[in-house]
Amino acid sequence: MKKNPELSPKKSLGQHFLTDPALINKIVALARSESSEVVLEIGPGKGALTLPLSRAVGRVIAVEKDARLVELLKEKLSREAISNVEIINQDILEFDMCRLASPSQNRYKVLGNLPYNISSPVLEKLIENQSILSRAVLMFQKEVAERLCASPGGKTYGALTVLVRYHAAASAMLKAPREVFYPKPKVDSMVLELDFERPYSRRADDEAVFKKVVKAAFSHRRKTLLNSLGLFYHSWDRGILEDAMKMCKIDPKRRAETLDMDEFLSLASALSLTKNNADDKF
Ligand code: SAM
Repeated sequence: MKKNPELSPKKSLGQHFLTDPALINKIVALARSESSEVVLEIGPGKGALTLPLSRAVGRVIAVEKDARLVELLKEKLSREAISNVEIINQDILEFDMCRLASPSQNRYKVLGNLPYNISSPVLEKLIENQSILSRAVLMFQKEVAERLCASPGGKTYGALTVLVRYHAAASAMLKAPREVFYPKPKVDSMVLELDFERPYSRRADDEAVFKKVVKAAFSHRRKTLLNSLGLFYHSWDRGILEDAMKMCKIDPKRRAETLDMDEFLSLASALSLTKNNADDKF
């Protein structure tokens, strides 16, 4: 892709544009299913994904923060006589996702070659809106993608893995080496699919407690589970923690990264019984 001096990429907006047609087609194919479908695209940029996507699905709502790119993309779409794309000049983190939901419309899909610096808040936003989403096909920095798909026991398994897996099944779909972007980023990327219609089979008794237990458990990765939880909630009685772990048959000397989802859910459930005692710490 030639450099356009008037549209030099903004680093602050994580602008690394896709340039490889083969990869673009594969990503669009992942997002496609029914031709009537609505897809929300995060950060369409110059439209590398938007244009082929518009030909594959019913309607595209594309939310782009950079007004320069919005103008450029609108011109491109009009030149190509594409009329099923609505471009919204807004920060995706401020966009009301419920706006797209309607009783006649099934859950909708999300697609995005995400700017690296907003991948965590975007994930949080998608999780908040999971009831109206079917799947998300998203490009992440490779290291973040590996964390999202990690299994217990490994270095990359952490709070993000557990919290996202609770809400959606994450699968690695495509590798995207740095060479397929302009300008070339310093890291490789990976496309993941998050399936919100396949959340973890077991539900937490109290999701707020579950989330806090997971975050606390991984807050000091090198410490034992007991110390990690105790340190996170300073004044929390260690006896309560030990009793809860005993109840779930979890050795307090284990480290958070060895616990699987069911163990976190059991621990959160045991601790939610004592929640009233420890409300201020949650
Ligand atoms: N989809 C295009 C592609 O694949 O070539 C561009 C991807 S580029 C990695 C990320 C895009 O997200 C840029 O167009 C950038 O301006 C836009 N962006 C960055 N932060 C944003 C935000 N908070 N809300 C919406 N768009 C954002």
